[in-house]
Amino acid sequence: MNSAKDCATADILATVRRYWGYSELRPLQEQAIRASLERRDSLVVMPTGGGKSLCYQVPAELAQRTDIVVSPLISLMKDQVDGLRQCGYPAGALYSGMSLDAVHETEEAIVTGRCRLVFVAPERLLTPRFLQLIERLNVCAFAIDEAHCISHWGHDFRPEYRQLAEIKTHFPQASIHAYTATATERVRTDIIAQLGLRNPVALVGTFDRPNLVYRVVPRVDARAQALEVLKRHPGEAAIVYCISRKDTESMAAFLQANRLRAGYYHAGMEADQRRRTQEAFAAEALDVVAATVAFGMGIDRSDVRCVIHAAMPKTIEHYQQETGRAGRDGLEAECVLLYSAADILRWQSLIERSAVETASAPEIIAASRSLLEHTRRLCTSVHCRHRKLSEYFGQEYPKLNCEACDVCLNEVEGLADATVNAQKILSCIARAGENFGVEHIVDVLLGANTERVRRWGHEQLSTHGLMKGTDRKSLTNMLYQLVDDGLLERTDDERPILHLNDASREVLRGKRSVRLLQAKTRVKKTRFDEKSWENVDSGLFESLRSLRRQLASERGVPAYVLFSDATLRDMARMRPGSSDSLLNIRGVGESKLADLGQRFLDQISSYCSANGLKPDAASAADRPRTHRK
Ligand code: ADP
Repeated sequence: MNSAKDCATADILATVRRYWGYSELRPLQEQAIRASLERRDSLVVMPTGGGKSLCYQVPAELAQRTDIVVSPLISLMKDQVDGLRQCGYPAGALYSGMSLDAVHETEEAIVTGRCRLVFVAPERLLTPRFLQLIERLNVCAFAIDEAHCISHWGHDFRPEYRQLAEIKTHFPQASIHAYTATATERVRTDIIAQLGLRNPVALVGTFDRPNLVYRVVPRVDARAQALEVLKRHPGEAAIVYCISRKDTESMAAFLQANRLRAGYYHAGMEADQRRRTQEAFAAEALDVVAATVAFGMGIDRSDVRCVIHAAMPKTIEHYQQETGRAGRDGLEAECVLLYSAADILRWQSLIERSAVETASAPEIIAASRSLLEHTRRLCTSVHCRHRKLSEYFGQEYPKLNCEACDVCLNEVEGLADATVNAQKILSCIARAGENFGVEHIVDVLLGANTERVRRWGHEQLSTHGLMKGTDRKSLTNMLYQLVDDGLLERTDDERPILHLNDASREVLRGKRSVRLLQAKTRVKKTRFDEKSWENVDSGLFESLRSLRRQLASERGVPAYVLFSDATLRDMARMRPGSSDSLLNIRGVGESKLADLGQRFLDQISSYCSANGLKPDAASAADRPRTHRK
C-alpha cells in the first residue's frame, strides 16, 4: 500500500493504466488526485468531459481506502458504478428504489471495506443509518460531484445540497473535494464558503472544448432545421433540447415521422417511462432524444455527436453544461443553437412568473435577468463562439481563429438586401399605426386577407403585400432580428406590440444600413473532424460498434461503458492482431482486455480476412484510406 504523500506519479499512472487503459493524465488530474491523497480540501473546476471522475476514483484505490462520493442523481450514480465495475474497480451505490437484497449486499460490501467508492445522494449522506454504516470505516475523503448545486447563484441550485455544509462537523478530520463543470467566480466562492473548505487547493481547468463546433443559426422552423442538422449525423447519438415538455413530444414525433430513431424525455413523464427512454438511448436503441433540461445530468454516453438547442437556453452555464454532453470522448461533435429573440421574451416571462411563485428576493431575480442577457449577447454577436464562452468564464482564449465555430469557419452569411427589407418592414409598422404585434404586421406584408386586416382597413395600405412571396417564417425571423438589434421595439406585456424608435427612423431615412442573418448556414468540414477519421476504416468501426452494442445488451449495461468511440476508432485504425497490440490502444485496460479482448480481436481478424487487410497496421501505408460518408 502506498502512503499518501510519497505516492509517485508512476503509481498514479499505473493505476490509471490498469483500470482504464489510459497512458497519460489530462491537465489538472494529477494535482487533483494529489490533493485527495494528501487529504487537502480542493475545488476542482473542469469542463464536462474533462475527466473529473478519475480525480476521485484514483486516490481511493491507490490509498486503499473507502471514499464517499455525493452525487445528485440516481441515474448518474448507477452509470458510474456500472462503468467502474466493467473496469474491475470495486464501487457501490445506495439509492432509493433498490431492492432489499441489493441494499443488504451493498451495505455488507461497504462495512467490510470492499468498496473503494460509495456513491450516495446528498439527502441520504447525513442520515443516522448511513452514518452508522460508515462509522467504522474512518472515512477520510468526500467527493462532492456537481458541487455548483449548493449555490443559488448558480443555475442548478438544489436545496438538499445545503445539508452538505455539515460534513465538516461530522467528519472534522476528513478532506472535502468539490467538483463542478460550471462555476463563475461568484459560484466558486460560494461553494468554498458553503462547504467550509479550509485553505482549499483551487484547480480551474480550461473551459474551452476544442472538439465542439458551435453554430448559432436564426430560427425559422425549429423542427425542419433540427432535422437538417441531424441528417449530418446519421446513426449517431444526438440530443435536441427544447424549452417545454410539449415541444419535446412534437419534436420527437416529427423526427420519427422522418424515420429517425427518436424519443423524448421530460420531467412530466412517469419515472418508468423516463427510465426507458434513458436506457434505450444508453443502449443505442435510440439515436436522438428530444428533451428538456431535465435530461442530461444522468447522461454519460460519451459518443454524443450532436447537441441541438431548439431554443436559447436561459443561461450560458446551462448552455455549457448541455453542450458539454457532446463529444465527451474527445472526438468532434456539433452544437447548433437555433435562436430567435422570441426566446428572450419567453424566458423573461418565465423568470417573472417564477419570481412571483417562489417569492424570490430581488437580487436573485436580477441575477437571473443578467444571466439571460449574457446568453442573448452570446447568440446575437458575430464573434468567435469559443472565445466568447471562454471569456464568459473569465478565461482568455489564445487562438485568433478557432476553426470550430460558424463565425471562424466563415459560414455566417448576411441576407442580401437586408436594409431594403428592413425599410419595408419598418414602413409597414409606421403606416399601420405602431399598435400591432408581429403576426399582424407579417400578415399585412404578405398581403393576407384576414378578418383583422379588413377590420383595420389594412388591405388599403401601400405596404399590403409589399413582401408577398417571402416565406412567412423567414419574415417573422427578420422582424425578431430587428428587435434584437435595437432597430425596432417590442413591448413586453401580455399583448406585445411593435413600435419604432430613433434607430428605426434612421433606417427609414436611409441613414443606417442593416445586417440580417441568413437562417441557413453552409456547413463546412473542420480539420479536426477530418483528423479524427484519418486512417480509420469506417466499415471496421461500424462492425466494432455493432459488436459493442450486442455485448452491452447481453450484459444489460450501456454500450459506452464497454469501450468509447475513441477507442473503437483507434482499433479500426490500428487493427490490433494480438492481445499485446490491443493493450496498446487507449482505453483498453487489463480488466477489459481479459474480459472483452478476445471478442474484439476475433471481430477485427474476421473483418481483415473478409476485406483482404493485414492486421496490425504498422505504418500509414498499411492503413486503409478513410472512406466516410
Ligand atoms: P467529467 O466528469 O469531467 O465530465 P469524465 O470523468 O466522465 O468527465 O471523463 C470523460 C471521459 O474522459 C471518460 O470517458 C473518461 O474515461 C475519459 N478520461 C478521463 N481521464 C482520461 C485520461 N487521462 N485519458 C483518456 N481519457 C480519459
